[in-house]
Amino acid sequence: MSLATSFAANTKRPFFTEEHALFQKSLRKFLQKEAEPYFEEWEKEGRVPREFWKKVGDNGFLCQWFDEEYGGLGVDFGFSAILAEEFERIGSGMTGFPTHCDVIAPYISSFGTEHQKKKYLPKFLTAEMISAVAMTEPGAGSDLSSMKTTAIKQDDHYILNGSKTFITNGTQADVFIVACKTDPQAVPVHKGVSLLIVEKNSPGFSVARKLDKVGLRSSDTAELFFDNVIVPAENLLGEEGKGFTYLMQKLQQERILTAITAQVAAEDMLQLTIDYIKEREAFGKKISKFQNTQFTIAEIATEIQLGRTFVDQLIMRHIAGEDIVTEVSMAKYWVTEMAKRTSGKCMQLHGGYGYMEEYKIARRYRDIPVYCIFAGANEIMKKIIAKNMGL
Ligand SMILES: Cc1cc2nc3c(=O)[nH]c(=O)nc-3n(C[C@H](O)[C@H](O)[C@H](O)COP(=O)(O)OP(=O)(O)OC[C@H]3O[C@@H](n4cnc5c(N)ncnc54)[C@H](O)[C@@H]3O)c2cc1C
Repeated sequence: MSLATSFAANTKRPFFTEEHALFQKSLRKFLQKEAEPYFEEWEKEGRVPREFWKKVGDNGFLCQWFDEEYGGLGVDFGFSAILAEEFERIGSGMTGFPTHCDVIAPYISSFGTEHQKKKYLPKFLTAEMISAVAMTEPGAGSDLSSMKTTAIKQDDHYILNGSKTFITNGTQADVFIVACKTDPQAVPVHKGVSLLIVEKNSPGFSVARKLDKVGLRSSDTAELFFDNVIVPAENLLGEEGKGFTYLMQKLQQERILTAITAQVAAEDMLQLTIDYIKEREAFGKKISKFQNTQFTIAEIATEIQLGRTFVDQLIMRHIAGEDIVTEVSMAKYWVTEMAKRTSGKCMQLHGGYGYMEEYKIARRYRDIPVYCIFAGANEIMKKIIAKNMGL
C-alpha cells in the first residue's frame, strides 16, 4: 500500500474504534456507488440533487451525533469527522453535507427550545429539510459585527430586512439560521446580534441569485434577500443579543472541519500525482525517476504527514471537549495553506494534463483556495492566534 493510500484507508487512527471503522467503510461504499459516478454531472449542473440528499438521509448517514430522542445515535465527533472526510474524497463540492450536519444543526441542538429541536432535528437527519447558516453580507464578512441586516421586534414577531451572500446550500435549503441585529443601537455592536430561524416559504424571503464560483461548483451558493419578512418571535434561537457569542462558540467545530477536509484534499492530490508520475514518461524514463519529482513528492508527503498528525490530535481533543480555539485556528490556517501549496506542486507534476478539466487535479486546484477564505479567512485565524498569545 502506498503512503498516500495508507493515509486515506488508515483504520488505525488515534480516535478510531471498531464502530468508526465500520461507519467509514459503509459510508465510503455508499458514496462510491451513489455519488462518485454522478459527481461530474453534478459539478456541471451546479448542484447536488435533492434526491441524493434524501438517499443519504434515508440510509442513516446524517447527523448520527443527535440524541436518540431526535433520531440519532448519540455518537461522538469522530463520526462527524469521518462524514466530512468521505464526502470530501468525492469532491469539495459536497461541502453542503458536513455544513448541514455539523455546522448548522449544532446551533439548534445547543441553543434551540425543545419545540425547535423536535420540529427541525428529525427532519435534518432524514434530509427532509436542508439547512443553511447566513452570517455573511455583501458589506460584512470578516468584520461580522458590522452586519446591516435587522430584525425589529413588533408584538409577537420580528420584521427582518437585509441581505446575505455566499450562503452554502442557499438555493436548496428549507431552513436558514440568520444572524441579524435585533438591537442596531447596541454598544458594543456585537451585543445587538441575534440568531433567527427563517423558513424558506416566509413571505418576503427570496433567493436573489445563485452564485457562479471558480470551484466547489456542485455546492450551491446563494445570495439571500429579506424584505419585511415576518418571523415569529418563537423562532428566536437562544436569547436575544447573544447571537454573536453563539457564533463564536460554534466556530471551533466549523474550523476543525475545514482543516479536516483540506487535509483529505491534500492526501487525494498526492495520491493522484503519485499514480500519474509512475505512468508518464519523458526523456526515456518515468517522471517519478527524476530527482526533482522525488524531492517534491517527499516535501509534499512530509507536510501531509505533519497535517495528519496535527488534525487527528485535534479531533481527539475536540471529542474530549477541550477548548482548543488557538490550535484549531492554527490548523485551519496551516492545513488549508498546505493543501493549496500541494495543489500547485501536484498540478506542475502533471504538466499540461494537469491543466485539463478531465484530470481530477485540475478540479482540486480550483476547489482548494476557498478553504483559506471561508470559515474565517486565514488572516483572521492568525489574528486569533496572536491575540490568544497575549499580543
Ligand atoms: C464558497 C463559499 C461558501 C461560503 N459559505 C458561507 C455560508 O454558508 N454562510 C456564511 O455566512 N458565509 C459563507 N461564506 C462567506 C465566508 O465566510 C466569507 O467569505 C469570509 O468570512 C471572508 O469574508 P469576505 O468574503 O467578506 O472577505 P473580507 O472580510 O472582505 O476580507 C477580504 C480580505 O481582507 C482580509 N482581512 C479582513 N479583515 C482583516 C484584518 N482585520 N486583518 C487582516 N486581514 C483582514 C481577509 O482575510 C481577506 O483576505 C462563504 C464563502 C464562500 C466563498
